[in-house]
Amino acid sequence: MPEVKALKIHIKGIVQGVGFRPFVYSLAIQNNLNGWVQNTSSGVDIELVGSTPDLEVFISALKNSPPHLSRIDSISIDETEKQSYKKFEIIKSQSQAGEFIPISPDYSICDDCLRELFDPQDRRFRYPFINCTNCGPRFSIIKDIPYDRPKTTMAPFQMCDRCQSEYSNPLDRRYHAQPIACPDCGPQVSLMVNNQIIAKGNDAIQQSRKMVRTGKILATKGLGGFHLACDAGNHSAVENLRTRKKRSDKPFALMAFSISLIENYCSLSGEEKKLLESKEKPIVLLKLKSTNELSPLLAPAQKHLGFLLPYTPLHYLLLDPVDENPEVWVMTSGNLSEEPIAYKDSESINQLSNIADGFLMHDREIFMRVDDSVTRIVQGKNYPIRRSRGYAPNPIITPSNVPQILATGAELKNTFCLTRDNYAFISHHIGDLENYETLISFEEAINHYENLFRIKPSILASDLHPDYLATRYATQRANLESIPNIQIQHHHAHLASCLADNHWKVDDFVIGLCYDGTGFGTDGAIWGGEVLIGNYSQYQRRFHLKYVPLPGGDITVRIPARMALSHLWEYQLDWDYSIPSVASLCMEDRTVLESQLKSKINTPNTSSMGRLFDAAASIMGIKHRVNYEGQAAIEMEALIDEKESKFYPIEIENNLINPKPLFESLIIDQQNNVSINKMAARFHNSIVQYSTNICIIIRKESGINSVALSGGVWQNKVLLDNTIKKLKKERFDVMIHHNVPTNDGGISLGQALIASKFTIK
Ligand code: ZN
Ligand code: ZN
Ligand code: FE
Repeated sequence: MPEVKALKIHIKGIVQGVGFRPFVYSLAIQNNLNGWVQNTSSGVDIELVGSTPDLEVFISALKNSPPHLSRIDSISIDETEKQSYKKFEIIKSQSQAGEFIPISPDYSICDDCLRELFDPQDRRFRYPFINCTNCGPRFSIIKDIPYDRPKTTMAPFQMCDRCQSEYSNPLDRRYHAQPIACPDCGPQVSLMVNNQIIAKGNDAIQQSRKMVRTGKILATKGLGGFHLACDAGNHSAVENLRTRKKRSDKPFALMAFSISLIENYCSLSGEEKKLLESKEKPIVLLKLKSTNELSPLLAPAQKHLGFLLPYTPLHYLLLDPVDENPEVWVMTSGNLSEEPIAYKDSESINQLSNIADGFLMHDREIFMRVDDSVTRIVQGKNYPIRRSRGYAPNPIITPSNVPQILATGAELKNTFCLTRDNYAFISHHIGDLENYETLISFEEAINHYENLFRIKPSILASDLHPDYLATRYATQRANLESIPNIQIQHHHAHLASCLADNHWKVDDFVIGLCYDGTGFGTDGAIWGGEVLIGNYSQYQRRFHLKYVPLPGGDITVRIPARMALSHLWEYQLDWDYSIPSVASLCMEDRTVLESQLKSKINTPNTSSMGRLFDAAASIMGIKHRVNYEGQAAIEMEALIDEKESKFYPIEIENNLINPKPLFESLIIDQQNNVSINKMAARFHNSIVQYSTNICIIIRKESGINSVALSGGVWQNKVLLDNTIKKLKKERFDVMIHHNVPTNDGGISLGQALIASKFTIK
């Protein structure tokens, strides 16, 4: 007879609302184990009695094949006193004050539910809200914890008897699936045109498809907000959408029913396919095939396009390719340019009524708005650009335990970050904190996260920029609650964010190549081409791009031609009419600019890398005015001749990086009619070259061999790939982002980690 033992097991992580208890239940029964499993406020507790070999099988399965949506962060196993249990059972949840557990993000429909969705024999055949413990809405419908149906927006829907019996059966795959629903008892869709409901149920879906097929613009209520949809193959529909949404050039995301349809337009690697099909179902940036039949208006002047697969049952029903349905739909956030994504019924109808021809609505309320996530594959791995649905509110594990901190993030692409224990909860994408609506959604989301994860910050962290709304929020709150607000330099936060993203535990220094468009410097200048030496607690600004004036601030950000002239001015190079930037500005504009530069009124100094790209793109004649942030650089990247290996010289003197010789050579190339493709390549190669040289200089001085790349400029894939390649060739260890964005969406994580170090000292 093998020995009989009793074990007590405690599991932390995402283990509730994901089918964990039924999994444990079946596993215990299969292995002849008695005892119980229960949810607690901090995870799942299990007690088991059985033979040693049976217990071993149980534990190995627990560790190696837990439910699809779960995420085990820690397991503690202790031997305990034997009790005489007669069976194995699931016992009632226990709540402990102040305890919390992570909450599952919203995940895509699973294969089992998808099969049922298209099975005419199934009672949920073509039901757009089919879900189970392995899939469906979570974060966007949860109002409070513990995660139970009454605390979600499913509360108003009374379960029918059949759903109730599935819900109560531990062996059913819908056991305790809180959003469980069926055509008899769950949410329903309806189609509204001119404020009238014209169709319901399947009919509403069929008529919506017809609207898209005939070139109309459809607003669809989804999981975390509204989308605006139209036929991506219909040029005039896409044009209409651009005009009505007031979005001139920024690319639209596209949705297709299957990978094979996407392959008609883009070439996909194995990793890209995996990412597209992952349960997070993000928008993945993919390389366009050189010939494709999509409207050029979808992503003007770009070589990449963002695609995603359907992630809700409703999407599958809409995109189903039968009956000449368009292959690819535009699926862009339902908002007017720059506003947060619409998610409440009546507000959304108001907000979008001038854009959409019809509204495909449903009656399940969205509690938290969550945009689609955007990502791409770099070096074979996930490289997030917008971390939102499917990822938030999954916490990042911090390198060590941290106090309860709220870091309020940056101004653009804002996220905030709340920490406790060894968790950093980075919020979903909030957006650009420039308007009132976004500020409100920022404050609401902070309250919600603090409540869900039972966090009461004792420290605030924010950007050094006094006028960022996120900084103002922190300053006011710090005053009100008499707690410290630690203001953190923007590029130091980028560096720390990259360290935390890579689980960098130690206090060793690294080289941070922090390149972005804008960040408030300790000297009041606008920084952005920064080479730092630092760790979580401190940094030194070892090199930076030489300052140039930024006349008029924002206006020059929108008009790269002005930035080009400002660079030329700084290096005392002529505003020669044969330079495209000069020619693109009228005489009057140039006179105004000249007087601004001479008088130095409202011309802050900047070391911005983003503005250096703008200036270069304008001098090459690529873009003189932009409609969205980074447009000139993105268009330049798309033009690169990848075979070109020449580069322009850049001077490094003391702690300054001086691009004057680069501009001199660039202008010579331009006058000699060197192709834009070659100039674009040479410019990129120059940045790669000097970045590597600088790292070599620092290594000689200090022995530091690790380099972190962070900041929005590293969204440029050619620059990123080539820099990594070159640095690795020089035997540097290179860290890039994999969990949070390299842009300002990752700033809050860095702020929180830096603030945690301040408090320990
Ligand atoms: Zn499912
Ligand atoms: Zn039902
Ligand atoms: Fe930044």
